[in-house]
Amino acid sequence: MADTDCIFCKIIAGEISSFKLYEDDRTYAMMDINPFNDGHCLVITKAHAVNLLDADGADLAAVLPTAQKIARALQAALEPEGINIIQANGPAAGQTVLHYHSHIFPRRLTDGAMMNWGHAPGDMARIEEVYNKIMAELASAV
Ligand code: 5GP
Ligand code: ZN
Repeated sequence: MADTDCIFCKIIAGEISSFKLYEDDRTYAMMDINPFNDGHCLVITKAHAVNLLDADGADLAAVLPTAQKIARALQAALEPEGINIIQANGPAAGQTVLHYHSHIFPRRLTDGAMMNWGHAPGDMARIEEVYNKIMAELASAV
């Protein structure tokens, strides 16, 4: 169901234009209009959902094949040295549009994007503590 205040729902409805790359029954892919770099694209669900937490599972399952299709086209067209898929959920994650979307970023070794982090060894006691909290939620999930 579309949200009348949602910019991505308006794009899917054709009320706002986009550089559409691809669409199928459940997904829609387009160029990002504020690109981080050349080739920055978005894959969105056609059904309105705020993010990963409330999206329909079948819609989410359809996102990845679309992302693969777009990523292969990006690879062939732009020959990047890497591709990231980033998906933000909530303000601390940097989500600004409240309609599910995955970013597809072609990457260059020299692009300076701050998405990579080092591999410093973790505190195993803390990891186990957090693990137990998550496992308790998974055990009670239907
Ligand atoms: P977020 O910050 O929520 O992870 O990403 C939202 C993305 O949507 C941003 O990269 C932003 O540039 C993009 N965006 C916002 N409005 C529009 C629009 O009207 N059309 C397109 N194609 N992208 C948009
Ligand atoms: Zn929407």
